[in-house]
Amino acid sequence: MKKNISILGATGSIGASALKICEIFSHEINLIGITTNKNIDSFLKIIDKFKPKYAVISDGKIMYDHFKSHTIEYNKVKIYSGKEGLKLICADRENDIIINAISGKAGLFPSLEIAENNINLACANKESIVCAGTLLNELCKKNNKRIIPIDSEHSAIFHLLKDRNLNDIAKIYLTASGGPFFKLDKKKWDKITIADALKHPTWKMGNKITIDSATMANKGLEIMEAHYLFNIDYDKINVLVHPQSLIHSMIETNDGEIYAQLGPNDMSIPIQNAVFYPEIKRNNYNRFDFSKHLSLEFYPMDYNKYKMLSFAFICGRKGNVFTAFYNFLNELLVNLFLNNIISFIQIEEFMEKAIELFEKNNDFSFMSISKENIKLIDKQAEIIVNKLIKELYGNNNSICIEDYNSGIWI
Ligand code: NAD
Ligand code: MG
Repeated sequence: MKKNISILGATGSIGASALKICEIFSHEINLIGITTNKNIDSFLKIIDKFKPKYAVISDGKIMYDHFKSHTIEYNKVKIYSGKEGLKLICADRENDIIINAISGKAGLFPSLEIAENNINLACANKESIVCAGTLLNELCKKNNKRIIPIDSEHSAIFHLLKDRNLNDIAKIYLTASGGPFFKLDKKKWDKITIADALKHPTWKMGNKITIDSATMANKGLEIMEAHYLFNIDYDKINVLVHPQSLIHSMIETNDGEIYAQLGPNDMSIPIQNAVFYPEIKRNNYNRFDFSKHLSLEFYPMDYNKYKMLSFAFICGRKGNVFTAFYNFLNELLVNLFLNNIISFIQIEEFMEKAIELFEKNNDFSFMSISKENIKLIDKQAEIIVNKLIKELYGNNNSICIEDYNSGIWI
């Protein structure tokens, strides 16, 4: 029987790899739904090629401006828009599995909808796990399901932990390529431009995750992601720089043995394994060639240099309200950097001040992670960044932080 799948964020980098898997395994996969935010031209090409049951352009305004309607039929495929369209796709029980490949917090609403509707979630969108891991885990537990990770490190650990008892695990090691500035002296970080930060040495990815990889916030989000996915203590999570990105992650068992997952750096493989989980299908699109990779290097992580990672451990240990805050704040700061409002180094400077302010201004004793509270935390991040921007530019600036906060649909 063919698997029915949908891809949220089909026009992105993970979306493209997921479509490749649909093509390679076309005799086993039925692509029923796809979404984009606003990438209409490439979206229509995907529709022409894959002819899904329906498609969604989640930015309703873009859809309306382009087609003068909120729903249309294009090439016999129904195209819907906005939150309602996303809701439709995430509630369609015909889906055996839905891939969430949306970037940023916009992936939160779909992850929650998919879990609430008891549909299997293959999740590349780490931000939703970081913001609402507790809530997603509760929903999955109720339905006897697990989130299947696509992030390469987590996919590796997910497979390494299979059939193992968590009590036997001493540590996990998440590997990090080191990003573009691994060899750049921190003293020179004040000169980093947007173009410098968008040049990742080993992976070709969307803009947000590429900046996160440069600041190491990506690894920060990933330690939180690992905590929620595998129910593992932050004390047991280690990060190691591995510039070749060929060992995707490792686990250390109580006896001191280390088990690593090594393979090509190709996101198609974790996507394939998530779609067909627990089956490991034979493929031939990317095989590891030992004659080309003779050396694997490892370096300890420099936590003084990569403060965004240190802040992530601090927030992780403080609990789920703080992991959500870290994510919202980081997303806002990345947007401000990409719009030339703050510099690269100011991302970590703002994060440090913001965590302090957040802690000082709030009483968290009764706060749990509900949809309502998640919205409040997001708002707090916006208010705090606004305050910091005002301090930087003075009260007369015309920068409106809301423009850089892409809204949240929960
Ligand atoms: P991308 O920017 O290339 O693509 C993002 C996709 O999400 C696009 O299809 C876009 O239309 C859609 N999107 C963007 N904003 C949206 C919004 N507000 N509402 C609805 N849809 C929206 O990003 P990517 O690199 O493919 O990353 C996607 C997710 O996968 C991220 O969470 C990222 O952290 C994670 N991830 C990516 C990689 C990678 O290799 N690219 C690896 C591991 C994890
Ligand atoms: Mg990763």
